[in-house]
Amino acid sequence: MTAHRSLSLQVAGLHAGYHGGTVLHGIDLDLPAGTVHAVIGANGAGKTTLIHTLAGIGHAEQSSGRIQLGDGQSTLDVSAWPAHRRARAGLGLVPQGRRVFATLTVAEHFTLLPHATDPARTWSVERLVTVFPQLARRLSSQARHLSGGEQQMLAIARALLTQPRLLLLDEPTEGLSPPIAQRIGQIIGDLAADGVTVLLATPDLDLARAVADQVSVLTAGRITARFDPAALPAAAHQVPAAAAALPLTGHGPATAGAHPPGHPDTPDPAWPAHCDEGARR
Ligand code: ATP
Repeated sequence: MTAHRSLSLQVAGLHAGYHGGTVLHGIDLDLPAGTVHAVIGANGAGKTTLIHTLAGIGHAEQSSGRIQLGDGQSTLDVSAWPAHRRARAGLGLVPQGRRVFATLTVAEHFTLLPHATDPARTWSVERLVTVFPQLARRLSSQARHLSGGEQQMLAIARALLTQPRLLLLDEPTEGLSPPIAQRIGQIIGDLAADGVTVLLATPDLDLARAVADQVSVLTAGRITARFDPAALPAAAHQVPAAAAALPLTGHGPATAGAHPPGHPDTPDPAWPAHCDEGARR
């Protein structure tokens, strides 16, 4: 594949889970290159399982379905590829909880990868310190002394050093104050404008509304609705009713709300409360 060309992502009929149990039940996603897609859902809906399955990391096992990356010229089925090969193809990850190295300085994080200082690279250290001036001021600080927002920026910067063309972000605004969450949203928007395709998993409706081109609702491991971000309800507790009124395009159940309470396709009633936590700004 050509270097620096944005990647598209197509996911079809993805089933995955743990120890023989199924958590993701036939996920379909279609991300055109250079777009931002938000998957919103409550705690336990399967967001991290989805992100890990796409990245090929963690304990989740894919039992069926297809994951394809495309650069406009060729399409690769990466479903059976190990994580490092997906990463080499341009898939980057910003994990939930940042996972920065507590006792390493910001500068040391920037030298973890070979060639990080090569200015010829799309994402070099030189460029990152201009994109993240907050980090430029904290180069000699250990990660454990950074604020939550700075740690999140460091996690994003570290992922960018892998030269991703498709970036997976797992709950990037978790635990951040509203203004910092908005700054993270701006950074995500800038990345997309720069040609990086973004899939973000979040319970944060405001983030989804601010940055996404398309929003999918993940409920108990199933995509139960897709929204134009402008059509997203104001509050999380309104999502199930709004989702029920929408026809779901593609595979899967016709509408989330068409099923009785207790049916596996019925929205998780716990979601709005959790989502309000994440979405409060
Ligand atoms: P949160 O917002 O709390 O991070 P989530 O939407 O990311 O939630 P997942 O972490 O993907 O949800 O969890 C989905 C389901 O998979 C849950 O029922 C969870 O208990 C289960 N699960 C997650 N990781 C494992 C694991 N390593 N082994 C077994 N079950 C797991």
